[in-house]
Amino acid sequence: MNVLKELGIEAVNAGGSSGSDWWSRPSDAGVLDSINPATGEVMASVNLCSAADYERLVQETTNAFQQWRMVPAPKRGELVRLVGEALREKKDVLGTLVAMEVGKIKAEGDGEVQEMIDMADFAVGQSRMLYGQTMHSERPHHRMYEQWHPLGPIGVITAFNFPVAVWAWNAFVAAIAGDPVVWKPSPKASLCAVAVQHICNAVMKRHGYAGIFSLFITNTAKLAETMVRDQRLPLISFTGSVPVGRHVAEVVAQRLGRTLLELSGNNAIIVDESADLDLAVRAIVFGAVGTAGQRCTTTRRVFIHESRATEAVNKLIAAYTQVKIGNPLDTKVLMGPLIDHAAVEAYRSALGEVKKEGGEILCGGRVLPGPGYFVEPTIVRAQNRWNVVQRETFAPILYVMTFRTIEEAIAMQNDVPQGLSSAIFTNDLRRSERFLSAAGSDCGIANVNIGTSGAEIGGAFGGEKTTGGGREAGSDAWKAYMRRQTNTINWGTDLPLAQGITFDV
Ligand code: NAD
Repeated sequence: MNVLKELGIEAVNAGGSSGSDWWSRPSDAGVLDSINPATGEVMASVNLCSAADYERLVQETTNAFQQWRMVPAPKRGELVRLVGEALREKKDVLGTLVAMEVGKIKAEGDGEVQEMIDMADFAVGQSRMLYGQTMHSERPHHRMYEQWHPLGPIGVITAFNFPVAVWAWNAFVAAIAGDPVVWKPSPKASLCAVAVQHICNAVMKRHGYAGIFSLFITNTAKLAETMVRDQRLPLISFTGSVPVGRHVAEVVAQRLGRTLLELSGNNAIIVDESADLDLAVRAIVFGAVGTAGQRCTTTRRVFIHESRATEAVNKLIAAYTQVKIGNPLDTKVLMGPLIDHAAVEAYRSALGEVKKEGGEILCGGRVLPGPGYFVEPTIVRAQNRWNVVQRETFAPILYVMTFRTIEEAIAMQNDVPQGLSSAIFTNDLRRSERFLSAAGSDCGIANVNIGTSGAEIGGAFGGEKTTGGGREAGSDAWKAYMRRQTNTINWGTDLPLAQGITFDV
C-alpha cells in the first residue's frame, strides 16, 4: 500500500519481519491487525510488544531521562521543532492514514496532523517560557523563587478517535519540559502510531538522540496495566472512556503517582430565542455529525428555546439529509464509518433504549448495510433525565430538547455526570454572560456562538466532573509535566528563622 510505504512502514506486515527498530520486531506477543473501518478489510498487521519489550523500552526511556533533563529547554524545543518540520512534510500522507485507519474524513485527518504541527510550534515557543515566580522573602538578605524541573519519563495512553493529535498534545509539551515519553496507543489505531514513531525515529537518529519518544503496542489490558502500575513513570496521561480512566486513576493514586485524565464528554449547545439559527445549525451539524459523532467534544445534546424549536429542528433535519456518508477519502463525503462493529452495536442499542423511553427519532436511525461500519446520523426528541441521554454513546446521535428560561437550559445542560464542552448561541449579552458566569456552564470549555468541538490548541483543553479534570495543550498545561521546586537563598551572615521564631543554642 503506497500510503504505508511513504510513511516507511514496510517493516510491518502480517507476521512479517521487522525493520531495524527493535520495537517493531516480531516477538512471541504476536501481531495485531489494523482494520479499515470503511471496508472491514485488514490493511496491515503490527508486531505487538511483549512484557520483555516493555521492560527494555522503559529502561531505555529512564536512561534517556538522565541526559535529557540536563539538555537546556530551548534545545529540547529544537528537537520538537524538527519533528514538527518532518510532520509538515508528511502531513498529506499521514492525514490519509488517519482517515483510513479510524474512518474520519480526509479533511479531518489532515486537520489532526495540522494540530500536531501547531502543537509542535506552540511547544517550541513554550520551551523558552517555563517561567517560575520570584517571591519577596520575609527575612532580610534572603531571596525566594520557584523553578520548574523535568518530572521524569511520562506514560501516555491514547484513545482511538484522535490517534495522533492527542499524543502530540502530550509528547511535545512533555519533551520540552524534559520528560521522555512512552506511548501506548489504542489498538484500534496502531498503524498511525507506528507512522508517527517512524517520523520521530528518523528525526532522533539524524540529530543524535534516542529514547525521547517511544512506542509500545499492546492489545491486552494486562500489559497496559503494567505501564499504569510502573513506579518509574511519575505521570500517566490517559485519554479514553470514563470506566477505564477511573480505573487508571485509582491504580496510579494507589502508588501516589500523578494522572492527567481526558475522559468522556456529553456536550450540549443551548440555542436561545435571539440566536442566529443559520450559525447555530452549522455548528450543531459539524459538532454532532463530524467524525461520525466520535469526538470527546461531539455535540450530543441541544436545548432550543421553545419559540424557535420547530424552525431549528426543521433546519437541522434539512441539513442532516444533505450529509453524504461513505468513503472518508472521497472529498464529497462528510461522514465516514464508526470505528468497529461494537460501536455500531452501541448505536443500535442506544436507539433501542430511546424507543423504550418513548423518544421520537426525527431523522436517521438506521445501520447501513456493509461492508464497513456505517450508520445514519440521527436526531432524537428526548428528555435530559433518561439514562441514555445521561451517558456518552460514541456515535452520531443528537438529543434535542426545549426550554423556556435560560436558567432552566443551563441547569439541564449541567445536569449530567460529564463536564467537557458546552456552548450557547445567542445575541443577548446578558444570557451569554450568565452562561459564562460562575453560576453558568460547569464545563472545562464554554463557548459563545461557536460549537462544542474543534478547540484551538492555544487554550488549556479538558473538562470537569467525570471528564477527569485534566488540562492539556496550551495555556499553562505544561506545568502538569514538571515538578515545582521552591528555593530560598540566604546571602546574609545571619540565620533568621521564618515566623519570627528564635532558636538560639
Ligand atoms: P477506551 O477507554 O476504550 O480506551 C482508551 C485507551 O485505554 C486505549 O489505548 C486502551 O487500549 C486503553 N486501555 C484499555 N484498558 C486499559 C487498562 N486496564 N489500563 C490502561 N489502559 C487501558 O476509549 P476509546 O474507545 O479508545 O476512546 C473513546 C473515549 O475516549 C470516549 O469516551 C471519548 O470521549 C474519550 N476521549 C476523550 C478525550 C478528551 O480529551 N477528553 C479525547 C479523545 C477521546
